[in-house]
Amino acid sequence: MTDDQRELLRIENVVTAYGRGAGVRAVDDVSLTLRKGELLAVIGESGSGKSTLALTALRLLEPRSGRVFFGGEDITHATQRALKPTRRRMQVVFQDPYESLDRRFRVRQIIEEPLLVHGLGANRAERLERVHAALERTGLSPAPLFANRFPHQLSGGQRQRVAIAASLVLEPELLIADEPVSMLDVSARAGVLSLLDGLRRDGDMAVLMITHDLAVAAHYADRIAVMYLGRVVEEGPAHKVVRSPVHPYTRALLSVVPPKDPLAPFHPQLLEGEIPPLTAVPAGCRFASRCPDVAPVCATVDPPLMDIGGRHSVACTRATRQAATPAHQGAAE
Ligand code: ADP
Ligand code: MG
Repeated sequence: MTDDQRELLRIENVVTAYGRGAGVRAVDDVSLTLRKGELLAVIGESGSGKSTLALTALRLLEPRSGRVFFGGEDITHATQRALKPTRRRMQVVFQDPYESLDRRFRVRQIIEEPLLVHGLGANRAERLERVHAALERTGLSPAPLFANRFPHQLSGGQRQRVAIAASLVLEPELLIADEPVSMLDVSARAGVLSLLDGLRRDGDMAVLMITHDLAVAAHYADRIAVMYLGRVVEEGPAHKVVRSPVHPYTRALLSVVPPKDPLAPFHPQLLEGEIPPLTAVPAGCRFASRCPDVAPVCATVDPPLMDIGGRHSVACTRATRQAATPAHQGAAE
């Protein structure tokens, strides 16, 4: 397959704002590509625009500018009706499985609902078969036992598995998981994360996982995109971003992840100050006010994301001064 055929989701220079008029730009000129079967982790502090980006990719929000492609098709301004077949192919799992599951319904009905919405499964028996298969795939076995329960009769981890099953039943090509384990007990987290990882490995399903846990991203992702105040500031293969981070923000985030070896040196670098509000985005580099490597140039130059080689891009004037080409200009790989 060529690279083009492997491409599933492409976001190009997307701006998504809230409010009337120009609004506040929660996502401000972001470009990202996700290939079939790939797991991309989007990380960044709360408020950096991760959920807004996910909602834009799903076209649950319409961008102010830029374009969104899914499976090669431009869906940027597609109507809800035109989007319906695409909706089956891109599913989402949210943070809080208790909120996202309708507590009046049994698990069986919760997972059957998407089939009914999309007119899948010839009859009740066939739909039930698919419901059971989806439950088994998420590790809720024996399926008939779980199918008859109500959400309140399940643990947090089991409820998140039901939410995942309600997506899987549609056999999506892309699953967007927005902080899928942050509401779960620590003991349930690893199970749900390895479930998501396993599903994309067996099923060739791509996963866009939002997390604020860099250790999780490092462990599961093929690629990592780091967001700061509506922008992607670094993006690349997970091993490169984790082992040789270039952007000072990524370096700071990584420095606070404790090493596995408790005797290894550990020098957490705490960032001073708060993320500036979206209503007062600084001119120049948006990270300058908190950057440990800040230089005078950073007050005036707003650094674009530059390719530093090997599908690794960084938006930092100082770090990319040499040997970088603008990212996302179709540069040969
Ligand atoms: P993250 O998921 O990284 O925490 P969000 O995408 O939720 O970030 O939010 C990005 C910015 O957009 C934040 O400043 C947030 O306050 C703002 N925002 C998010 N949702 C809305 C909304 N519905 N209306 C107005 N502002 C919003
Ligand atoms: Mg969020």
